[in-house]
Amino acid sequence: MQHGTFDITIAGGGMVGATLAVALAKLNQELSTPLSIAVIEAATPEKKLAAGHDGRSVALSYGSQCIFNSLGLWEELAAQAVPINTIHVSDRGRFGVTRFHASKQNVSALGYVVPAQQINRVLTQAMSALSDVEVIAPAKLVALESDNKQQLTISHDQLSQQLSTRLLIGADGSLSTVRKLLNIETTHWDYQQQALVANIHLQRDHRNTAYERFTPSGPVALLPLPEQQAALVWTLPKAQIEEYMGLSDAQFLVRLQALFGYRLGRFMGVSRRMTYPLHMLKAKQQIRPGCLLIGNAAHTLHPIAAQGLNLGLRDVSTLVTLLREHCLHLPDSSLKSSALLLEKYNKQRRLDQYMTMGFTDLLVRVFLHQLLPVTLGRNIGLLAFDLLPQANHYLARQTMGLLGATPLKGEANVAA
Ligand SMILES: Cc1cc2nc3c(=O)[nH]c(=O)nc-3n(C[C@H](O)[C@H](O)[C@H](O)COP(=O)(O)OP(=O)(O)OC[C@H]3O[C@@H](n4cnc5c(N)ncnc54)[C@H](O)[C@@H]3O)c2cc1C
Repeated sequence: MQHGTFDITIAGGGMVGATLAVALAKLNQELSTPLSIAVIEAATPEKKLAAGHDGRSVALSYGSQCIFNSLGLWEELAAQAVPINTIHVSDRGRFGVTRFHASKQNVSALGYVVPAQQINRVLTQAMSALSDVEVIAPAKLVALESDNKQQLTISHDQLSQQLSTRLLIGADGSLSTVRKLLNIETTHWDYQQQALVANIHLQRDHRNTAYERFTPSGPVALLPLPEQQAALVWTLPKAQIEEYMGLSDAQFLVRLQALFGYRLGRFMGVSRRMTYPLHMLKAKQQIRPGCLLIGNAAHTLHPIAAQGLNLGLRDVSTLVTLLREHCLHLPDSSLKSSALLLEKYNKQRRLDQYMTMGFTDLLVRVFLHQLLPVTLGRNIGLLAFDLLPQANHYLARQTMGLLGATPLKGEANVAA
């Protein structure tokens, strides 16, 4: 049994928790009394980075790229990032199409596609190299008691260890232990769908275009990857997923081609297919005295609009900006009372989270329907977004993660 006392403890060193750790270490450079920081992560770095652990490619918004850039991580991520210059949204067999162009938004790219494995690798290595962050892994948070500090019990190498912390941040994903230990209820929708992901070899160059095509079998997204490949995210009803996983590669490509068409030429090959369960989840509260939920622990989204990680990174950005203000005003970097800080965080994040979750849920529901009035309505909507510059600009900026974002110190200024 060991003891440790920290100002901030992050439960969960996934993409959101690890980004927060790196951002806090950067903040420490400005503080006369640096914050003591711990990360408790259930998986070993080897497990997280093992080949085939995560087959997804993630669309990072322009705003997320700015966050990684300000943390000095973008250069390494950029080595495997493919810029998205155009987003093309369509409804199979209908007239509606919406296009967003980077040039019309005065940015070099609307976002970037990066393999999740690469993001995890860069973040895990950056976090391990931080001298002022203690990474405890593999270790699981198992119990929590609150008095004027948070007393944590973690299970580490089959031993029980006690830690205490002034501020506990739950970044431990959809099944968050922190959330459960705090008895925070959730609002939860099960869409009865799963995402099937794989890389597709293309006959034609994708020209840095990301496609989202709504089909009767569910939305199909194809995101640009290097070497004439695209990352497929196909949302399918749970009941059909086994059938699609059981198809031969050739049969699978025929089905996909029939739905997507020939905009990218013939589909030439498919990598190993992997599936991910899909649901929407929102914690009914995100703050408790001395505790905060961020990322998927606070809100888990359907990947239809590629917003989940981007939203979690905006949580990080707001939190670190508020912590910076808080610590610079209190010379001893005191986190003795974090109540005001947490209230401010809650207030500042509410609208962005509400809008992003609402927009994502609306997309899932509207594009599930095949009834004529609904399909007609959504096609008129798609056309309107294509033809009305203001509407197109607004939606493009939502997609780019620029609405409701609090820029980190040093983050590039973005044209309004
Ligand atoms: C198919 C699919 C495609 C997606 N595509 C995109 C996209 O294009 N763009 C986008 O922005 N988002 C996308 N997302 C969403 C994105 O993946 C998530 O929002 C993001 O991974 C959430 O990160 P997180 O760190 O909050 O949670 P997680 O990634 O779940 O990390 C939680 C971490 O906590 C650890 N942990 C859990 N319990 C404990 C415990 N008790 N103690 C200690 N550690 C613990 C886990 O080991 C893990 O490392 C997609 C999601 C899916 C399913």
